[in-house]
Amino acid sequence: MSASIIDGKAIAAQIRAEVAREAEELKARGVTPGLATVLVGADPASHTYVGMKSIALEYDESLSEEDLLDTVRQLNSDPEVHGILVQLPLPGHIDEQKVLLLIDPAKDVDGFHPFNVGSMMVGRTVFAPCTPAGIVELLHRSGNPPAGKHVVIVGRSNIVGKPVANLLVQKNDRANATVTVCHSRTRNLSEMVGQGDIVIAAIGSPEFIKAAWLKPGAVVIDVGTNRVEDATRERGWRLVGDVEFEAATEVAAAITPVPGGVGPMTITMLMVNTLEAARQQSGNS
Ligand code: NDP
Repeated sequence: MSASIIDGKAIAAQIRAEVAREAEELKARGVTPGLATVLVGADPASHTYVGMKSIALEYDESLSEEDLLDTVRQLNSDPEVHGILVQLPLPGHIDEQKVLLLIDPAKDVDGFHPFNVGSMMVGRTVFAPCTPAGIVELLHRSGNPPAGKHVVIVGRSNIVGKPVANLLVQKNDRANATVTVCHSRTRNLSEMVGQGDIVIAAIGSPEFIKAAWLKPGAVVIDVGTNRVEDATRERGWRLVGDVEFEAATEVAAAITPVPGGVGPMTITMLMVNTLEAARQQSGNS
């Protein structure tokens, strides 16, 4: 079998075009979706958010916790800011939980405020965390809806494994999957993976999941982004996922590449959430 490649770049571009169009419609009604990104002591990554007003706040690593909390308070009360993203991890002297808890849940486009995590848990998702939301979109838009399927997730982090399990187990048309979550204490991991109609790998270990473990015809979503040495590249490394990609293409029915699979979806879903936040805050939902 030769797996079809799920093109995350193309799917992300399609969603961005939809978001840009809908943002234009909102603009015509006098509302420009506004996204504030807050970075403390990290290298800024340049992203363009088409159709949105983007406010990039960058601070030195020495920024005090109180000053960061003040920044969040100001953004909470700024009517032109509909979404707030505080880039994690924060420097050690800042209590991340304190900061995340202060973000207005209505502006929490990252979906990590306990209010939004809880809403997702009970099936009333407002803002789903971006990577898990991107995975759900990839499944649907590549023609692999999860309903009735056994989805085996490897990884139980709060940013990927647990929330994607939560989204997929819900009783709705976007989900309705049977979900198994595996982690480092799971026994017989290869057998568990072998049961997956859909396998989602979010471990952070290069090509850890072997092609031989997969059920023939499985759909594989590889979240992992791992740098491995590669002397043939000028920069000396390349990115690989958590799944043994080349060999897996001979077993799976469909698979996401790394890079170009899940990665491009994350920022795209941030835009989707920001558009939704702007709609809700302006009474245009
Ligand atoms: P974490 O390190 O927070 O979690 C890794 C998970 O994998 C843990 O639950 C851990 O188990 C489990 N695990 C580790 N080793 C094994 C093993 N040998 N067998 C089974 N399970 C194992 O990682 P994240 O969830 O934050 O990220 C996972 C990967 O996804 C990383 O490569 C990261 O870079 C990538 N990523 C990519 C994104 C994108 O946009 N493309 C976004 C977010 C992440 P335990 O809980 O028991 O320790």
